[in-house]
Amino acid sequence: MTGKAKPKKHTAKEIAAKIDASTTNRGGGKAGLADRSGIEKGGHAKYECPHCKITAPDIKTMQIHHDSKHPKVPFEEAKLSNLHATVAVDTSKPRPGVRGSSKK
Ligand SMILES: [Zn+2]
Repeated sequence: MTGKAKPKKHTAKEIAAKIDASTTNRGGGKAGLADRSGIEKGGHAKYECPHCKITAPDIKTMQIHHDSKHPKVPFEEAKLSNLHATVAVDTSKPRPGVRGSSKK
């Protein structure tokens, strides 16, 4: 009865792998490739972690990364490097809400 009752351990490596899996479009194919390489979005992932320079295509992925890698640092979207904002003009999309950056 104890067949697959494995305790779940979330090592940093595992989480990193998960993030990698989620940042890498698993759809594959042409659309996936374009998305993965970010060609349509300025040739790069959107967000860059200010702490370790890892990149993520969206705020959610970056937050997951942040929570796992920098749990002691408050997550502040404003501190992320939005590569699209600096390189490509992207005003068509509403920016995700800033959480807690203006709070003390
Ligand atoms: Zn980081």
